[in-house]
Amino acid sequence: MGEPNGMLTIEKTEGRRKCPSCGEENKYMIHESTDKTNSISDYPRVYGKKYRCGRCGQEWREK
Ligand SMILES: [Zn+2]
Repeated sequence: MGEPNGMLTIEKTEGRRKCPSCGEENKYMIHESTDKTNSISDYPRVYGKKYRCGRCGQEWREK
């Protein structure tokens, strides 16, 4: 689907966030950042969030 670096898009999870690739659940291992390629709203400008697993390097975003 043209996603760079194997970025995954998953359903928003209830409760504890975990890595969709390796299952890491430690929140200190899951790094949240702003996804500038994914704007949710143009005005005001709001971007989505993306997450990266510090254990396996998988990146993903939630719907
Ligand atoms: Zn992982």
